[in-house]
Amino acid sequence: MQTNSLIELSRSAYQKNIDFLRQLFGKKVIFSSVVKGNAYGHGIPEFVTMASACGVRHFSVFDVSEARDIKMVLNDKITILIMGFLQKEDLEWIIENEIEFFVFDRKRLSEACQIAKKLRKKAIVHIEVETGMNRTGFEKSELAAVASLLKNEKEYLEFKGLCTHYAGAESISNYYRIERQIVRFKEIKQYFLANDLKPKICHSACSAASVMFPETRMDLVRIGIMQYGLWPSQEVFITYLNAKKMKLDPLSRVITWKSVVMSVKKIKTTNFIGYGTSFMAKRDMKVAIIPIGYAHGYSRSLSNHGRVLVQGQRCVVIGLVNMNMIAVDVTDIKTVKKGEEVVLIGSQNEGVISIASFGDYSNQLNYELLTRISKSIPRKIID
Ligand SMILES: *Cc1c(COP(=O)(O)O)cnc(C)c1O
Repeated sequence: MQTNSLIELSRSAYQKNIDFLRQLFGKKVIFSSVVKGNAYGHGIPEFVTMASACGVRHFSVFDVSEARDIKMVLNDKITILIMGFLQKEDLEWIIENEIEFFVFDRKRLSEACQIAKKLRKKAIVHIEVETGMNRTGFEKSELAAVASLLKNEKEYLEFKGLCTHYAGAESISNYYRIERQIVRFKEIKQYFLANDLKPKICHSACSAASVMFPETRMDLVRIGIMQYGLWPSQEVFITYLNAKKMKLDPLSRVITWKSVVMSVKKIKTTNFIGYGTSFMAKRDMKVAIIPIGYAHGYSRSLSNHGRVLVQGQRCVVIGLVNMNMIAVDVTDIKTVKKGEEVVLIGSQNEGVISIASFGDYSNQLNYELLTRISKSIPRKIID
């Protein structure tokens, strides 16, 4: 296949991350692999295939189309949990396929019950409760109605999970807010138990919470960013290292993003390169053009800032990131040939472009950088 770039997923790096995370959480905690945002840009079909080969049996997604993407490639016994958006039209497929889903409004709960009755099948629901993030989740005032519906319709509504999500566990500055959320969640759990309603599992932790507040792990952890080999923030990373008195990062990046040199050009000093006047050559230069641009998810905010590897050396993006192309400075590399490998994320010889470094050059969060990588780029699993 002729492509302008390629994404490789390292199975050994993933296995290492999973082994580390399993050891961290213990056997009793269910590991749910969060694969929303096209598996944080890694590509759902390839990523879940690899994860399943590494023993992962539980996946969490944002919406129905992502659940369908998983179903297309994995039909063995796995659990899929939709945490976000779904519409009434989707419920039939969801219930029929035993997909589990968050419920945070009463209408959805009664619709689910209605359709479950029609299909003579249970809807498997996770009741999401508001504890302080103020995004989605049942308010305290609604709990009585939710409890009575769950009780009256228990033939059609399986109360599988009770859950919540934290408002920024990756930053110490939110410490008290998260602590209050933890307390509220406990109170709400008690409320259900007192009403003779026992969820099969309770869950609340994302990557950051699972490290910063171990009590949030409960019965299941919903892990996104860490399974891809990245930390939710520097704070979480440092906290973990200090707590364990470790020096080395136990996680490994799974993704590598590569392209090729499309053409090479010599530029005379004082000439502008690319659109407009954002870059002027201050000496005679050699420039390599790479067929990657913001259309592929290489952010325009990396204009004059981004770095790529050519022959293991860091080369700076010069001028504006175009829709489909960037220019990089290769003046100091002796011979650069058309067709040779360029690494946008990953390592090459002795050089490395980490995902964290994008946060230094632009204002991009690792989450954002990854999920913006175009879905159309081919993904390949390597060892
Ligand atoms: C995205 C998400 C997660 C995973 O977050 P990470 O920080 O990537 O681990 C967990 N729970 C919910 C509800 C989410 O939306």
